[in-house]
Amino acid sequence: MPDGSRIVSPRYDAARIRVRGAVQGVGFRPFVWSLARELGLSGWVLNDEDGVLIHAEGSGLDVFAYRLRADAPPLSRIDEIERAPAARSGAPAFEIRTSARRAGARTMITPDVAVCDDCLLDIFDPSNRRYAYPFTNCTNCGPRYTITRRLPYDRAQTSMAPFAMCPACRAEYDDPADRRFHAQPNACPECGPRLSAGIADIVARLKGGEIVALKGLGGFHLAVDARNEAAVDRLRARKRRDGKPFAVMVASRLSAAGLARLDDAEAALLTSRARPIVVCRLEKSAGLASGVTRGLGDIGLFLPYTPLHYLIFHEAAGRPPGRAWLEEHHDFALVMTSANPGGEPLVTSDSEARERLGAIADVIVGHDRDIVTRCDDSVMRVIDGAPAYLRRARGACPSPIKLSRAMPPALGLGGHLKTTICAIRDDEAFLSQHIGDLDNAATYRFYKETAAHLVDILEIEPETVACDLHPDFLSTQFAADWDVPVVRVQHHHAHIAAVAAEHRIDGPLAGLALDGFGLGADGEENWGGELLVVEGPAMRRVGALAPLRQPGGERAAREPWRMGAAALHALGRGADIARRFREQDGAGLVAEVLERDVNAPHTSSAGRLFDAACGILGVTPVASFEGEAAMRLEALARSPAALPGGYEIRGERLDFSPLLAALCDVDPATGADLFHGTLAEGLADFVACRLAAVGFPLRRVAASGGCLQNNVLARLLRSALGRRGIDLLTPRAAPANDGGLSLGQAWIASLAAENQKGDGSCA
Ligand code: ZN
Ligand code: ZN
Ligand code: FE
Repeated sequence: MPDGSRIVSPRYDAARIRVRGAVQGVGFRPFVWSLARELGLSGWVLNDEDGVLIHAEGSGLDVFAYRLRADAPPLSRIDEIERAPAARSGAPAFEIRTSARRAGARTMITPDVAVCDDCLLDIFDPSNRRYAYPFTNCTNCGPRYTITRRLPYDRAQTSMAPFAMCPACRAEYDDPADRRFHAQPNACPECGPRLSAGIADIVARLKGGEIVALKGLGGFHLAVDARNEAAVDRLRARKRRDGKPFAVMVASRLSAAGLARLDDAEAALLTSRARPIVVCRLEKSAGLASGVTRGLGDIGLFLPYTPLHYLIFHEAAGRPPGRAWLEEHHDFALVMTSANPGGEPLVTSDSEARERLGAIADVIVGHDRDIVTRCDDSVMRVIDGAPAYLRRARGACPSPIKLSRAMPPALGLGGHLKTTICAIRDDEAFLSQHIGDLDNAATYRFYKETAAHLVDILEIEPETVACDLHPDFLSTQFAADWDVPVVRVQHHHAHIAAVAAEHRIDGPLAGLALDGFGLGADGEENWGGELLVVEGPAMRRVGALAPLRQPGGERAAREPWRMGAAALHALGRGADIARRFREQDGAGLVAEVLERDVNAPHTSSAGRLFDAACGILGVTPVASFEGEAAMRLEALARSPAALPGGYEIRGERLDFSPLLAALCDVDPATGADLFHGTLAEGLADFVACRLAAVGFPLRRVAASGGCLQNNVLARLLRSALGRRGIDLLTPRAAPANDGGLSLGQAWIASLAAENQKGDGSCA
């Protein structure tokens, strides 16, 4: 409705409108301003500690309120709109007022998002002043979390502070009608950050097989041509990378479709603004260097998300104008791996890059805008038909996970592997970005900084903190640094609690934890295949997998053949061990260890059961990275089917010995089908039997732990439970692996704080 054609209605109203949600720093005020002007309303809009507050008067307030929601800016998320009648002020026009802020403002930064289509048009247009400028952004796109030192989110509080805007940028910044109105990182080639190398040079080097360290949003990447066998091998050797596949960045959705079979859900994830790495099934004839995936059936693909990434693909494609080329297929593909040598945190500064990446990269491409918050790429996979995180970081953090209700402030400190930290504030849980394995000093430092940063930007004082039961974890020791009560949470209790938290289940919840390793509640046994009933801080173990022996302890987790040997021994076929595993060092010794029952602790871990199956089938006798054997077994499964009599339920234990015995005489592909089919069927049967036995309602069960990253298992488990009338709840907002532990811990810590106060809400 243009101004001129407005019909003056006899109903002239005034209203006070409150908008809650992610509505700050996302162009909401200029959107409200434009909308109000379009509808001929007068009044004002401002940001305050509760979100956005609007005073609007004129006729057509209903249309205004409707379009506030319907046409909201792309990066905003409206949780609630409240409208109350107000007194008329007789304001002559509509204006944006300065933010009203006081201490304790409950606001948050939004995540970094991919460059938007409008900005892409700018950087591909030779006549635009931002042509080929790698730091182009606007209110609808660009860096946020990674450049922000503290709240409120203003340019002065970000690493854009040293760059004074030129008159042209300033004019955009000040104009509510401009896409760059109050875009804090607004910049152009005149006034903004600069890259240390030319795009043409970068592309020439990549095409020449060089390793290029590229400064990105949350840290450096190491990039090489993904189709250059020698370059990929050199990167793997220089980075001392284990056998884990590399992620590959491609220009477009069609380029990705040339490498992997993408279903709709995968394509949607790939092109989403968060731009995660999406793990999908590799096409046989993909044309990538074999060193990228090393024979693994899955590949992590992602699309460009910064202007720099796009400009590299643009240059490689011959600098076509416009955006049409992004609807086409392009062969050029880049291995883009996090520059985190030796498992230490991601490199973020240019000087650090020269020091730590000098021996790996042939050239280092930096720039003069600081990375404030280190943040890896997020990794996602479509599991059981819906997106799930394998690693939650860039594009997702620091978006909160909504809880069922407001709770006391608390912290979850995570575990040991893939650690994260989680803070609860009111009815939201803030899960930190992926931090990594706490096995070196640098990662531990990053971990402690992350905890401090989270508490700082959220402005909370935790009333309780929670950690794992394991006394040796650095995260457990870190709990003592907080001057508040510490709740020690059993590992699998935390896994299931995380599912309860994100699915907003306050009452008791039954859960299957299918995991690698976690210390049991008795502080002795290794758990990892547990059926629990969780009710807030209380947990009861109502069943578990029958224990297997773990010869060599920790070592068995990296050498599945050892678990295979343990299974053979348990089946009374110990005499076969030396022959079946003759290619492995120490097969004879392992047979003896099992015979004499020394250094072979018991474990109920589902991860080790996978290893036992892999060991027997000869699938990855020795793994080159965590989870490799199970991934390869999953990739072999074609038409899984349960083996009749493949498991036994004996009281509180579920025993897959008959299945393991059957695997001794089949080929790996048949074995993979039998294993997945029988495992799902046995688990579902066990859940139904045990829950009935303890009188727990057979309505729904949660499942989490690293094994839930297995799509075949997750799908089979859902259908096997479904046939018994039981719904399956799985993690969606946080990873199923130990990256989600801190969410469950924080939730339990917060409930414990509530109980201490005698609120009794979960008694
Ligand atoms: Zn933009
Ligand atoms: Zn400028
Ligand atoms: Fe775990």
